[in-house]
Amino acid sequence: MHSLFSDKILAWYDQHGRKTLPWQKNKTLYSVWVSEIMLQQTQVTTVIPYFETFMTQFPDVVSLANTPQDEMLHYWSGLGYYARARNLYKAAQVIRDQYQGQFPTDFEQVLALPGIGRSTAGAILSSVLGQHHAILDGNVKRVLARHHAIAGWPGKKPVENALWQRAIEHTPEMRVTDFNQAMMDMGAMICNRSKPQCDACPIADTCVAWAQGEPKAYPHSKPKKQQSVKRARLIIVRDGNKVWLEKRPPAGIWGSLWCFPEAADLTEQQEILKAIGAEQYTEQCLPEFRHTFSHYHFDIQPVLVDVSLWNTRQVMEAKETLWYNLAHPQEIGLAAATSKLLSAPEFEMA
Ligand code: SF4
Repeated sequence: MHSLFSDKILAWYDQHGRKTLPWQKNKTLYSVWVSEIMLQQTQVTTVIPYFETFMTQFPDVVSLANTPQDEMLHYWSGLGYYARARNLYKAAQVIRDQYQGQFPTDFEQVLALPGIGRSTAGAILSSVLGQHHAILDGNVKRVLARHHAIAGWPGKKPVENALWQRAIEHTPEMRVTDFNQAMMDMGAMICNRSKPQCDACPIADTCVAWAQGEPKAYPHSKPKKQQSVKRARLIIVRDGNKVWLEKRPPAGIWGSLWCFPEAADLTEQQEILKAIGAEQYTEQCLPEFRHTFSHYHFDIQPVLVDVSLWNTRQVMEAKETLWYNLAHPQEIGLAAATSKLLSAPEFEMA
């Protein structure tokens, strides 16, 4: 069944596919792995500068594993979905400790690494070593769901299984590296989410969604849940050109990133100020804003508290904290809300 489909996809790829992306040059298992993780939920154009900087800073697995996590997160700041970065870091340490720093080449061993699923393991090993594995990332899911009119949300197991079955059927024995890249390119360049280019599509003549006249009807989107709203204050304690930051716990939003202390209400705010040692201060509310996570909205009321602490208590029990110097910022991973707030005019350095 795959011959015609894959022949058409490969012929299209030879003419139009992407062959000069930074992670397609001097490919190693490590560089392709980093690119695959960065590309999850993030567009190619956004990833390119992050990838290049990351590879300069951490040219191999061991250099990544030996870097303090904060420094690594600093180079991820802005890419979002930080669980990806934390898993990348954990996996680098597993590779250093269990595989003598050599990225494994066995599918099951790659699949067992933190943050690597079936599709990513297949993409890495097929891309670099030419191993025969099908892939099913978001782009490929969309192409196959449309081509075969597979109904339902791909997050549901039966739908995902049906898509995997098609992916395996179509993956050719030869040129698997090019075919997998071609399918990702097809999803990004031709069968894209909002404006599929069916007129330029090499598999339009067998595409069921196209024949039905409704290519965008597939894949079905995730059933909507009512999003809840959480409200809290972020307390920005500023002393001259320094602001007080706390490291968030590893689990939960902005895990292991640095953020302003969060207070549910005024009482908690006062407890935080007391713990920092702020007795005399001036306080102003900055404009409220909403930060939306995948499962809820977070309405944030920033409160700027100016203090003058020449007798600061530097340590808060059970928390990692620091005075972040706005004039000479430390290289640490900042939560999105922290970066956003620090770009406000109130924090511009003269
Ligand atoms: S014909 Fe249109 S909907 Fe079908 S695979 Fe091609 S681009 Fe996607």
